[in-house]
Amino acid sequence: MGKIEDLKKKEELMLDLDIKFENDAYYKDYCGEKDGPYCSCCFDFNDKLVRMHEICENDAKNNIYNYICPKCKTKILIE
Ligand SMILES: [Zn+2]
Repeated sequence: MGKIEDLKKKEELMLDLDIKFENDAYYKDYCGEKDGPYCSCCFDFNDKLVRMHEICENDAKNNIYNYICPKCKTKILIE
């Protein structure tokens, strides 16, 4: 399957699950409330919705992260 079909499939899946991409992560709409964040890496590569865990971490370059994916360990900062 080509890249365009992949993208289309992903968009359909996002519609099915009612999720949106925002601030480097996915969010579910849950009764008008934002539910998430969910890891974008796990969803994009494995179609898995993995809820990210709250952390407070600085790396060697002094970047701050406040969410981590328990599966693939992707870290992000959500303001
Ligand atoms: Zn992940």
